[in-house]
Amino acid sequence: METVEATPLEAKSPFEMRVHLGDDVGDADVRTALKTGDMGFLHSFTTGSAVDGPGIRLVAWTTACMFRCQYCHNPDTWTLSNGIPVTLAKAISEIQRYAPGLKRMNGGFTLSGGEPLMQDRFVVRLLEAAHAMGVHTALETNGFFGERLSDEELRNIDLILLDMKAFTPEQHKRVAGINNEPVIAFAQRLARLGRPMWLRYVLVPGLTDDPEEMRQLGEFVAGLGIAERAEVLPFHQLGEYKWKKLGLEYQLEGVETPSNEAVAAAIAVFAGTGLKAC
Ligand code: SF4
Repeated sequence: METVEATPLEAKSPFEMRVHLGDDVGDADVRTALKTGDMGFLHSFTTGSAVDGPGIRLVAWTTACMFRCQYCHNPDTWTLSNGIPVTLAKAISEIQRYAPGLKRMNGGFTLSGGEPLMQDRFVVRLLEAAHAMGVHTALETNGFFGERLSDEELRNIDLILLDMKAFTPEQHKRVAGINNEPVIAFAQRLARLGRPMWLRYVLVPGLTDDPEEMRQLGEFVAGLGIAERAEVLPFHQLGEYKWKKLGLEYQLEGVETPSNEAVAAAIAVFAGTGLKAC
C-alpha cells in the first residue's frame, strides 16, 4: 500500500485549514486502510492541549465525519481525503515520542476529529497501542458509530468524550443534519458497560441555548450514572473562514460568542440535573 507522509503531522492548531492531502491514495488502498486500520487519515497531531481530556494531551485529529453541524469549526475534516495518509506504525511512533512526558504530566493521548469512528479500525489499534504504553487514552466522538466498537474495545479506552449536539431528535436534526438514535443508544451502552465519559456540549446563541433542551439532555446524561463531568464549550467563529474557502453555506454568520453570563446559565442548567458541570 502506497502512503504519502511528506506532509508534517503537526499543524499549528486544528484551526489550520488542510485539504486534498490524501488525494493520491487510490480507492482500493482507502478501502483496505479502513478495513484493516493499517493506515489512517489525519488532519494533524497537536501537542500540549489542556482541554481534550485530563492533564496535558497529545491529540490526533482524524478526517471524515457523517455529521454536518452548523457550528462545526473544522469542515475541512469532513472529507477523508483531506487528511494526511499515515501508517499505523508512524502514528504509533509519534505517540512513543511523547509518551514519557504525557505520563509525567498525568496527561494522555486523545483521538478527535472529524469523527474518529469513521476510521474505527485505525482508531482502535492506535488507542490500544497507546494504552499498552501506559498512556491514558481518550476518544472524542459524536457517538453515531459507537456500535463499531466491541465491548472489549470500549473497556480498553480510558475515557469517552461524548459530543452530544442535542437530546430531542428534532433539535439534533436541526443542529447536525442527522438523527441521534444511535448516539442515545451508544450512551446507554456505555452506561451498561460502566465506562466513564465526559459530556461535551457546544453553546451557540440562538441555536443550542434553549434551557429546556439542555435540561432534558442533562437529565438523560446524569441518569446514565457514568458522566464524570459536563463541559459547556462556547461557540466561536475561528472556523468561519474554512466554510467560506470550501464554498459551503455558513448559517452562523454574525452569531457572537456567548457571553460569560450565558455560559454560566448553561452550566447552571446542567449542574441542576446533578452533573458536575463546567
Ligand atoms: S461532529 Fe464534529 S467534526 Fe462532525 S460536523 Fe459536527 S462538529 Fe464537525
